[in-house]
Amino acid sequence: MARYDVIVLGGGAAGLFCAATAGQRGRRVLVLEHNDRVGKKITISGGGRCNFTNIHASPENYLSSNPDFCRSALARYAPSDFLALVESRGIPWHEKKLGQLFCNTRSQDIITLLLDECARAGVTIRCGTKVGEIQKADHFRVGTDGGDLSAEALVVATGGLSFAKLGASDLGYRIARQFGLRLTAIRPGLVPLTFSGADRETFGPLSGVSLPVRIRHGGAVFEESMLVTHRGFSGPAILQISNYWKEGQTLSIDLLPAGGPDPAPGRGTAVAQLCHVWPKRFAEVWCARYTPDKPVAQWTAREREEAQRRLHAWPVDFSGTEGYPKAEVTLGGVDTRDLSSKTMEARRVPGLYFIGEVVDVTGWLGGYNFQWAWASARAAGQAV
Ligand SMILES: Cc1cc2nc3c(=O)[nH]c(=O)nc-3n(C[C@H](O)[C@H](O)[C@H](O)COP(=O)(O)OP(=O)(O)OC[C@H]3O[C@@H](n4cnc5c(N)ncnc54)[C@H](O)[C@@H]3O)c2cc1C
Repeated sequence: MARYDVIVLGGGAAGLFCAATAGQRGRRVLVLEHNDRVGKKITISGGGRCNFTNIHASPENYLSSNPDFCRSALARYAPSDFLALVESRGIPWHEKKLGQLFCNTRSQDIITLLLDECARAGVTIRCGTKVGEIQKADHFRVGTDGGDLSAEALVVATGGLSFAKLGASDLGYRIARQFGLRLTAIRPGLVPLTFSGADRETFGPLSGVSLPVRIRHGGAVFEESMLVTHRGFSGPAILQISNYWKEGQTLSIDLLPAGGPDPAPGRGTAVAQLCHVWPKRFAEVWCARYTPDKPVAQWTAREREEAQRRLHAWPVDFSGTEGYPKAEVTLGGVDTRDLSSKTMEARRVPGLYFIGEVVDVTGWLGGYNFQWAWASARAAGQAV
């Protein structure tokens, strides 16, 4: 049976970075990936340009049952550390907005970087491998369709359930359960929300229209754009707030985040006034539904008040989310109470580590999730 110091399950962002870190410390490392190639999610990330970190990443940008858990790993491997690695490879990058760093050309640059780091560290990578039963005696024994393997340490980096077509599986959660670790409830995150009731008929035809909004919900506030789709609302503001939204809750959307123009007398119809700040089609449909059908000068004080209230706090209900197939991340996962925040090792199972998205740590949209992948991978890679 082939023996390694470390077996990493999952050749995604966290798995590859952990393997390289451990390999560079002289550990004999094997990565097992069931896809035909590693890093498929990295390839499509950031619209093909991988938003590989966020220079403002801090614990406040993450959701977890224990918001302090991510603190140590993030402090020890900062966005500037990953950026230094990117720059050392001469990979061209730019800041798009809000501290979000993207590759100038393509995500493949990041995959090549990770593969080079692994090669330099003598890491073996096996793609197209089916992982079967896992046992632990002295060592971990990993059954695969290519035979049994053994290792002192097992790192689970199999990610969450989103985007199953890219290879997502529940293996990480099953391993956690097998070894007695607790799991927190999981659900799709950074995901479009779907219309309820008549909203689909009213707003669905506006698919493609986007406008700036501010949404405050569950203690978070995001001021970004919202995109109308055939099935609901998406765009950065909605994806961000979806992490905080739960089924049955109403969102209150400020449609004029920059202030005016609140409909005022003497300036024609509400549509005429609002189409200066909104796409015309949205102004027409929204005003037809919510404002009196007469010039603003003829509105009563009450009608004006009502319109202003709705413009700044438009209550919207949703039937649900687009689910894992469209979710960028999975919220929840391996309960951090059962992991060391310094090393990511399971507290009661020496040698077993969980890193990246499989752990109950989820970042905002904008490079935060990759930063968690790098930081948690680094913490484990230095400990295994
Ligand atoms: C469309 C999209 C765009 C995104 N864009 C960004 C972005 O620009 N910036 C950002 O910060 N985050 C982004 N994310 C989120 C980010 O991709 C993830 O948070 C990150 O990849 C998590 O890293 P990970 O290594 O934990 O998991 P993954 O990258 O998902 O890697 C897990 C690996 O394990 C493998 N695996 C799973 N099950 C098994 C099994 N049973 N046997 C063997 N191997 C297995 C998978 O095939 C995969 O290769 C995006 C996500 C999506 C879906």
